[in-house]
Amino acid sequence: MNVSDSDGRFAPSPTGLLHLGNLRTALLAWLFARSAGARFLIRVEDLDRSRVRPGMEKAQLSDLLALGLDWDGPVVRQSGRMELYEEAIARLDAEGLLYPCYCTRAEIRAAASAPHGIPASDRYPGTCRELTVAQHAAREAAGRPPALRVRSDDALITFEDRHLGRFEEGVDDFVVRRNDGTPAYQLAVVVDDAAQGIGEVVRGADLIDSTPRQILLARLLGLPEPRYAHVPLVLGPDGRRLAKRHGAVTLSDRAALGEEPEKVRAWMARSLGLAGIGETLSLDDLIARFEPERLPREPTVWSPETAV
Ligand SMILES: [Zn+2]
Repeated sequence: MNVSDSDGRFAPSPTGLLHLGNLRTALLAWLFARSAGARFLIRVEDLDRSRVRPGMEKAQLSDLLALGLDWDGPVVRQSGRMELYEEAIARLDAEGLLYPCYCTRAEIRAAASAPHGIPASDRYPGTCRELTVAQHAAREAAGRPPALRVRSDDALITFEDRHLGRFEEGVDDFVVRRNDGTPAYQLAVVVDDAAQGIGEVVRGADLIDSTPRQILLARLLGLPEPRYAHVPLVLGPDGRRLAKRHGAVTLSDRAALGEEPEKVRAWMARSLGLAGIGETLSLDDLIARFEPERLPREPTVWSPETAV
């Protein structure tokens, strides 16, 4: 299959089982790509070794297959791509775009106050941006290893989200390498999307605050920028993002209640306005009915009573 500007991906972190919200996002990403006749790739985001749980990657992939979602090419794992990330970090550094930051999270939280989409506590106030040689030396001597941050110059990034429309946000000096030496999520995603030839990133609406940072990084690295579609989430009855604590929310939970994956998929299709009550559609039917413009804008609230 040829590279297309609609090539898409699903990129789970193997930290736990996928729940109905994650799986519905995977179905949507698959539908966006497949309805355009494009490739669909899987990338396992396993850089944060402390959170990866054994067996979860296998379980996640088998859940995707159980729903009928197939993918092209081998599964790519971020843990096997460190050289690519280090090369990108070195390129930014060579252009003078990075600086070491010695701040603790608590220090950043105490100093931050900017009212933006990213919680103020997560925005970096620039404390280490212009340290003197003596200040650097003092911090090095204190023994705390620095993270590396990118100089964003307070860039204002605007983009047109395919689903949510125009989005604009100022970008802070964010971390590209954590102080334990791990490449940051933002950097790895940008490097991978470009290396894998992703044309359209389809992911949950909760990630839209990361997008301006990723667009800025792609520009600084001279990489192609994918298009974006941030799709509605599934929420629990309490209005918060669906999670394990909300009940029987994984495929294996549903199977234990006697519900086959087809039935779960039928619920997803119904919640997206693609099927009526009691209608069980094949994936080909779903592709035929899928119109990105007609997807609901609002999140779906899941509760055990309305269960699939
Ligand atoms: Zn700092």
